[in-house]
Amino acid sequence: MTVDSVIERDCVIAGGGPAGMVLGYLLARRGLRVTVLEKHGDFLRDFRGDTVHPSTVTLLGELGLRHKFLELPLTRLSTLDAVVDGQRLTIVDFGTLPLPDNFLVLAPQWDFLNFLARETAAFPTFELRLRTEATHLIIDGGQVRGVRARTSDGGLEIRAPLTVAADGRSSDLRAAAGLAPDNFGVPIDVLWFNLPKPPDPPPPTLGYISAQGLVLTINRGDRYQSGMAIRKGGFDGLRAGGIDALQAKIASAAPFLRPVVGTLTDWDQVKLLSVQINRLRRWYRPGFIAIGDAAHAMSPMFGVGVNFAVQDAVALANAIAEDLAMGKAPTEKLAAVQRRREMPVKIVQQVQRNGHRVLLRATSGNRIAPRWFVMFLRAASPLLRPVTARFVGIGIRPEHVRSGST
Ligand SMILES: Cc1cc2nc3c(=O)[nH]c(=O)nc-3n(C[C@H](O)[C@H](O)[C@H](O)COP(=O)(O)OP(=O)(O)OC[C@H]3O[C@@H](n4cnc5c(N)ncnc54)[C@H](O)[C@@H]3O)c2cc1C
Repeated sequence: MTVDSVIERDCVIAGGGPAGMVLGYLLARRGLRVTVLEKHGDFLRDFRGDTVHPSTVTLLGELGLRHKFLELPLTRLSTLDAVVDGQRLTIVDFGTLPLPDNFLVLAPQWDFLNFLARETAAFPTFELRLRTEATHLIIDGGQVRGVRARTSDGGLEIRAPLTVAADGRSSDLRAAAGLAPDNFGVPIDVLWFNLPKPPDPPPPTLGYISAQGLVLTINRGDRYQSGMAIRKGGFDGLRAGGIDALQAKIASAAPFLRPVVGTLTDWDQVKLLSVQINRLRRWYRPGFIAIGDAAHAMSPMFGVGVNFAVQDAVALANAIAEDLAMGKAPTEKLAAVQRRREMPVKIVQQVQRNGHRVLLRATSGNRIAPRWFVMFLRAASPLLRPVTARFVGIGIRPEHVRSGST
């Protein structure tokens, strides 16, 4: 690829997802010259992580964006309910968290990203380049010095003391940096599809779990963004059985959806999410760091992916902004970001892996749990709810925007 133009920035970020856009915002508000490259022409992709947890709402508050963000058309949830073997359980009660961020927000990811893009556009040193795909790292003497990118106008070279791979779980840049993730076996995949709400829908419910399977029902106004867990690699077999078999499987796991499953008439309406849990052993090298899914793909369990991506961005901005202002990106600072973020990632990934094993039992026709255990959970859930709210909603070692970055 020929290079048609070269630009110099303080930081170049590949990927305009939650990690890249939040980092771009944080650095640009410090007056740093930052470019985010996004290979797509917009943010409009369905079936992405749409949960904005209380910790992220708090961060938006620290940035003075909370009020505007909450004015978007979004859904606030104060509890997460699941129906386990026919018994409704409130498994998380965000209402037990400190005010004012004692709720979870469901916001289509493109709304969140468009919001960040609008807010970031106010900073003259920020640049978002859509339809621009980072293709190569510029490496000189072992040091990453920027990226080459493909645009509709030809090749572009962006040179910067720090290059950030925020290009998601199939990150090409981390591979170009010679970093490969350790993959942890995941026994499930998830099918995503939209279903209209039936007449007289039940109260908002995250999922229905029983011997017949697991069906997720994420509230989206007059429809559900629905998911169904299947055994890993089982999609082709399911597909061979025809769409009727899928309809029947959904209806048997969540009987209230029986009147609407017929709206699924074609496999084009169904998207397979190959669930992955992985983590880079080393997130950085001189002049380069991977964050968000590029550093650690999370399972959709607990919907934490967006929030971990945002927390990584805050940790990185806190650690590096002052150095970038002096044209440096010390490797020890990048190492410190990995050290700081790795522990929360490891713990949640381990909990997700354990959770998958339970879900696999649900999808393979075994009884998920003895009835007495479900009854016990029901009785104990008032005591557990504050703990689960803290674990899911705030997480371990939550990040805060450093006052220096305001
Ligand atoms: C189907 C599905 C459901 C999910 N459900 C949830 C959920 O409910 N809650 C939750 O919190 N998380 C969920 N997740 C996970 C969540 O979406 C991710 O964890 C989160 O988006 C990660 O953010 P990120 O910025 O690291 O990466 P991404 O959101 O993947 O963003 C990466 C961006 O980089 C761009 N890109 C890629 N390569 C290049 C390149 N070479 N050059 C330029 N741009 C590039 C991509 O187009 C993309 O916009 C889900 C994921 C999927 C796939």
